[in-house]
Amino acid sequence: MQRREALFLLACIPFFTACAIIPISKTSPPPSPSPSAGGGKVVNSVTVTRAQFLMGTLVEITAVASSDAVAQASLTAGFQEIRRLENLLSTWIETSELSRVNQAAGLKPVAVSAETFDLLRRALEVAEYTEGGFNIAIGPAVRLWNIPEAPRIPAASELEMAAQYVDYRRIHLDPTRRTVFLEKPGMRIDIGGIGKGFAAEKAAAVMREIGATGGLVGVAGDLRTFGRRADGTAWPIGIQHPREAGKILATLDATDEAVSTSGDYERYFMQDGVRYHHILDPKTLQPARLCQSVTIIAPDATTTDALATGVFVMGPVRGLALAERLGLGAVIVDAGGGISISSHARNRVKLSP
Ligand code: AMP
Ligand code: MG
Repeated sequence: MQRREALFLLACIPFFTACAIIPISKTSPPPSPSPSAGGGKVVNSVTVTRAQFLMGTLVEITAVASSDAVAQASLTAGFQEIRRLENLLSTWIETSELSRVNQAAGLKPVAVSAETFDLLRRALEVAEYTEGGFNIAIGPAVRLWNIPEAPRIPAASELEMAAQYVDYRRIHLDPTRRTVFLEKPGMRIDIGGIGKGFAAEKAAAVMREIGATGGLVGVAGDLRTFGRRADGTAWPIGIQHPREAGKILATLDATDEAVSTSGDYERYFMQDGVRYHHILDPKTLQPARLCQSVTIIAPDATTTDALATGVFVMGPVRGLALAERLGLGAVIVDAGGGISISSHARNRVKLSP
């Protein structure tokens, strides 16, 4: 029962802007003696959970700390950190650094903060790992599809036009000047596939600094855990079944790790029996067709977010090979519903009956 209460369900609602994470129990138990993360030692721990709408999605944070004041302060700091990063990075906010980079496409390099530079550097690294499956230059195509706000299949001519602008090798990072230059006018960076994980990662770090001993930061389908729960156990995570809303496909326990899921059920529309969803194959600019969902498990959420999206595009065969090469946990549901689990995750991921 306790396990069920604490299970986090990655419940994804079609036509909503993103995947939500819904803790089954939101109650904060009063301070109670419990074993510490160190094992055995009894300390007073308080657990507090709060949710806010940020980055266009539901952000839910749980903090475990020695007092209610510290737990509350770490939650507040975690949300503030995500809001700060949204203002820095969101391409929906015209004054953000990344919007300024996009506005200067083809014109001039733009100086950015170390954080933005680091995020872009990581994004381009993952583009190489995933053989271009993960591609933050996908912006013009994302705009054309505009899923799910204005569901419509773009004309072939529109996609052909957009194809000129989605080459990530034309994103130039200058580490000396810390500038970003998009070579062609019309290019547009989209960080939808990596930004939420980056934010979850940074929020967890801030919460730790404030004094939380354990926590779980969920930004849509991107989760970052640290430390342990108040009872000393790891964080139970549920992976949403891609075709049965509300059903858990598999569970795992995580500590000091991130778990990201990308799925074709998060944002999509159906037309003539075909599912059109938000993860695009940069080669065709059509929704990627080889997977229903991909979950990646690794130490940091920036990596898991970007790789979940990139492996989704690569498909089960090349994607699993990449996960094995990088030593990552991966749970891949292919287009036919078949499940593959990387050797790194096989012993710890429990498939639901
Ligand atoms: P995620 O939910 O993390 O898989 O990210 C999906 C979001 O990333 C989409 O809504 C787009 O904003 C963006 N995106 C779509 N296709 C790609 C791609 N191939 N590479 C990188 N980002 C993408
Ligand atoms: Mg992603």
